[in-house]
Amino acid sequence: MEKILLLAHTEADGSLGKAGLEALATAVALGGVLTVGLVGEATQAAADQIAGCGAARLLAVTGEVFGQPRYATDAAAAEAVCRAADCQIVIAAGTSRWARALPGVAYRLGGRVDTHATSLVLAGGAPAVTRWFYRQRMEAVLSRTQRPWVVLLDPGCVAPWSGVPGAPRAAAVEQVAVEPPATRTTVTGYQAPKADEQTIRPDAKMLLVAGAGWTKKQGDGAVHATEAEQLILGFLRKAQASLGSSKSLVDQSGEGEAVLSCLTHMNQVGQTGSTPRHAKGLSTCCHGEEPHVVGWRFVNQRRAINLDAGCGWARGKADVLYVADAFEVMRHVNSMLGA
Ligand SMILES: Cc1cc2nc3c(=O)[nH]c(=O)nc-3n(C[C@H](O)[C@H](O)[C@H](O)COP(=O)(O)OP(=O)(O)OC[C@H]3O[C@@H](n4cnc5c(N)ncnc54)[C@H](O)[C@@H]3O)c2cc1C
Repeated sequence: MEKILLLAHTEADGSLGKAGLEALATAVALGGVLTVGLVGEATQAAADQIAGCGAARLLAVTGEVFGQPRYATDAAAAEAVCRAADCQIVIAAGTSRWARALPGVAYRLGGRVDTHATSLVLAGGAPAVTRWFYRQRMEAVLSRTQRPWVVLLDPGCVAPWSGVPGAPRAAAVEQVAVEPPATRTTVTGYQAPKADEQTIRPDAKMLLVAGAGWTKKQGDGAVHATEAEQLILGFLRKAQASLGSSKSLVDQSGEGEAVLSCLTHMNQVGQTGSTPRHAKGLSTCCHGEEPHVVGWRFVNQRRAINLDAGCGWARGKADVLYVADAFEVMRHVNSMLGA
């Protein structure tokens, strides 16, 4: 087996995040001689966190300048670790930070990079990645002869490495010296919606999808968009679920129709939207057409609420279809969650 480098950046508190631990689990499972390379403002806590992973070497580029996500410094640090580690396979989590920096690093090293890999395993004795193509319709298994081969693993595909009982608590780290490159970018802080307003939660166990039906005339001949929004947001808060949408619903803002202000195109699930990974999904007021449902590929258990017993979900696309009024059902579900 070739030598493997697991490259990980630390989080603001100095620890390794879930995506990094997932990539570590993949690297450990691959077998072979493992080197771990850490990058961040502080790296010792992360090194101690993974002290029992069996790595032959623990390298780190440490310093305040490497704490901020920025192409120039991230690429310089990653390149230095790769050169010091001298491994043929480089595994990293597909975080926004590594997705931005590592393709350039692969180029500098004369290697190749594959992004959005969902696994990296041995196939016939050689490492091979799996990756989805054509909006998650086809899964391919790829291998490469060029080295170093940098593989960015999509988060959420494997269980994170969780330690070995009785493993050593402190790890010896070899520091790799890197002269920080000149930078033009200074990260002055983060602007993000308050946690309550954040509706896209990739780590949530549950996905709630809203369809255009929420803003259509209901049985009484009226539109109830305000109540729809309250029901949806109430459920999200109580269940800490992530919010997805059909294309029709997010497109409506451009047509001057009743809209749900909590939704943007970022919420859209489907062929021209996202393909989130959640243990469970509940579709509400959404027809379940193929271009939408293709985005449910990685939702393990699918349920839908629709007034129409002949909707798309009824055709083998949902595990359970509730033929019911979503307003009534969600009112009831929210009151049960509240209790
Ligand atoms: C090239 C292409 C790409 C596309 N990409 C995407 C994509 O990425 N994502 C996507 O979503 N779509 C996509 N579409 C569009 C897709 O085909 C559908 O048009 C869209 O998903 C329909 O959205 P909807 O189900 O919310 O709306 P509708 O089709 O209008 O369905 C509304 C549903 O709500 C139900 N309903 C109404 N009131 C209630 C109630 N009170 N209780 C329960 N149910 C109720 C109705 O019975 C109906 O089934 C794409 C289409 C094309 C051609």
